[in-house]
Amino acid sequence: MRYILALDQGTTSSRAMLFDHSGAVVALEQAEFTQIFPQPGWVEHDAQEIWQSQLKTAQKCLKKILNKPQDQYLPGSAAPDLVISSTPEILAIGITNQRETTVLWDRQTGQPLANAIVWQDRRTAGRCDELREKGFSDVIRQKTGLVLDAYFSATKLEWLLDNIPGARARADKGELAFGTMDSWLIWNLTGGKAHVTDASNASRTLLFNIHTMQWDDELLALFNIPPSVLPKVVPSSGLVGVSDDSLLGSRLPIAGIAGDQQAATFGQVCLKPGMAKNTYGTGCFMLMNTGTQSVASQHKLLSTVGWQLDVNGKRATTYCLEGSVFMGGATIQWLRDGLQIIDSAAEVQALAESVPDSGDVYLVPAFTGLGTPNWDPYARGAMLGLTRGTTRAHIARAALEAIALQSADVFTAMSQDAGVGLKELRVDGGASANDLLMQMQANFSGVPVVRPKVTQTTALGAAYLAGLAVGFWSGVDDIAGQWQIDRCFEPQISPDLRAAKLARWHKALARAGDWAEE
Ligand code: ADP
Repeated sequence: MRYILALDQGTTSSRAMLFDHSGAVVALEQAEFTQIFPQPGWVEHDAQEIWQSQLKTAQKCLKKILNKPQDQYLPGSAAPDLVISSTPEILAIGITNQRETTVLWDRQTGQPLANAIVWQDRRTAGRCDELREKGFSDVIRQKTGLVLDAYFSATKLEWLLDNIPGARARADKGELAFGTMDSWLIWNLTGGKAHVTDASNASRTLLFNIHTMQWDDELLALFNIPPSVLPKVVPSSGLVGVSDDSLLGSRLPIAGIAGDQQAATFGQVCLKPGMAKNTYGTGCFMLMNTGTQSVASQHKLLSTVGWQLDVNGKRATTYCLEGSVFMGGATIQWLRDGLQIIDSAAEVQALAESVPDSGDVYLVPAFTGLGTPNWDPYARGAMLGLTRGTTRAHIARAALEAIALQSADVFTAMSQDAGVGLKELRVDGGASANDLLMQMQANFSGVPVVRPKVTQTTALGAAYLAGLAVGFWSGVDDIAGQWQIDRCFEPQISPDLRAAKLARWHKALARAGDWAEE
């Protein structure tokens, strides 16, 4: 058997998976790593810990599947007890990663100069306000498709250069390298030979012009970033280097790269314009393929590079519109850890189903402000409509409805930008296992919600990108045929009822808006 190894470097864990030719997962290893919160609003990761966790999961995956009689100890292996055979069956490595998280390292030693600054980190919000006041929002939006926000990499990298003693001078001398997690992993996998990122990851930095598909000199000057630190931007599918033979038993080609949400869109084979997916993880991220044109949103969605492929000798970029809900599955975590009305996330469905409806209770989970389409950093969580008859079951139901209602608003914004009604919504991520939530989504969005059999779509997307590059799959038609439905949820409420529910939800949203005083 022949496999593709996918490395899925997420925000809380690193995962490695092996996929076979049918797109099935044949091995999976996962390792959590430390979340570092040095100050309120700051979130950091130890980049070396991430690399080690990712390497170990990959080695364990390979060991699981490839143990053979001729196994031998690998000298110098990061895991000295590792027994691994040569790995001719692994055709390529695909990498997908938490996006925007920023690492700065020494090209000579390969050591990071500081902890990585995670996408959730808000330390550069003031710097973004300053640039906004100077009137730079429009040019940034026009060139990058993004909003000027601390979420993206540029101000994080600027902060590192300005706050690590000597960093800026060293960067100017060409001694330092910047990257998101894809670049960092590939640097380490190739023993420092490749310093690259793909266009989907580059498009999340605020430094990349998504129309020219190049780092943008004006933006680099605006954020004080010396070009010497930047990785080379490569297509999402294509050979970029080989892994060092001391790491994974043999030299494996690295042939696919994409940011996690773009990889999931590819893994859901949303390969035609108008196809959309929603991933229900900590937050919810909806992406819609807009084809070879970047569409400027009229409804506060982001425009982003989906992926860049070389097809028949021609380089082609696919763009996406993206909307984000900050509190998706995390709302359920709050029921478990904050309110403590459930013991596990899986319990929420039975509790919510113990009542026929939410009893007109609305939970607005604006715990960290609101994302698309409201973009209100000062909104805070609210629960409305409480009566003496309200029970934890109503609150659980309202929490699930809130996830679906927020996603329905993103879906509406997307349909309006697309100018055509979207036909269906493909779903994945941890909370997509919840049938009640998926039924609510179909009801509130008014289209069928379709859950595939393989919901590890992020890793699958990275595997597809790598496998296409090495000919494991012959083309996008080959992979499109692999996608299989697990279950389709059809809308079960009338358009009138849907409109009434959304109107009530928007009333609740307005009550939660503009609340925090900072
Ligand atoms: P991430 O990749 O962001 O860590 P996952 O895709 O692993 O997220 O999904 C985990 C999230 O899904 C958690 O926030 C959890 O609360 C939520 N979740 C898991 N199972 C369920 C369920 N059955 N119903 C609702 N939410 C769930």
